[in-house]
Amino acid sequence: MTTEAELKAAADPQILSDLVLANRILYALGVVDGYGHVSARDPRQPEHFFLSRALAPALVTADDIMAYDLDSSPVEDRGCELYSERFIHGEVFRARGDVHAVVHSHSPTIIPFSISKTPLAPVYHMASFIPPAVPVFEIREVAGMTDLLIRTKALGQALARTLGNGPVALMRGHGNVVVGTNLKYAVSRAYYTEVNARLQLQARTLDGPLTFLDPHESAKFNGGKGVNPERAWDMWVRSVQGL
Ligand SMILES: [Zn+2]
Repeated sequence: MTTEAELKAAADPQILSDLVLANRILYALGVVDGYGHVSARDPRQPEHFFLSRALAPALVTADDIMAYDLDSSPVEDRGCELYSERFIHGEVFRARGDVHAVVHSHSPTIIPFSISKTPLAPVYHMASFIPPAVPVFEIREVAGMTDLLIRTKALGQALARTLGNGPVALMRGHGNVVVGTNLKYAVSRAYYTEVNARLQLQARTLDGPLTFLDPHESAKFNGGKGVNPERAWDMWVRSVQGL
């Protein structure tokens, strides 16, 4: 298969329709605004992934979804603008065979944790997938002074190294990347990472020391994957169908 139409025709149609919904849900939940993006890889075609052309997430339709290879190159040149940070997706998919969905956002409440010495840590059960200290990608260490965007494969690879085998990495002064075995997990995790950051900031105004989830507690949620997102997903889908 070489054309975008062939790749889309061969994909599980549920994945393509869920990808459109994921864009709208992330906007409705306040994880993305006019910027940020979400991608999906079809287990049937693991050397490719699907991602919209450069567009505000709430405006993405099925026709805007393009097919990319793992070099983050579009399978077909539509002559349209592409997300400059598409390399986040290609390099995370390349590094992580277990990952089938990637969310990149500038979700606001995680930003303070990306520029401080306070690690983002799991505050409550809905964010049990968060490790005891979320890693932070410092782009200066690999590229010096930049505009902070992941504009190359090399930067995408460096970010993927910081992510490691985890579910989330922060990007200093920029945003975060969240991954999942499917779109439902990735979207849910992106949302609850944002909520967890909000709660952690609130908790720091109260008397400490704070008690975070223990890894033994986190492991009891779905084998460490976190709360199953199915129920919330069905509600989120319903809530965006009028958008
Ligand atoms: Zn970004």
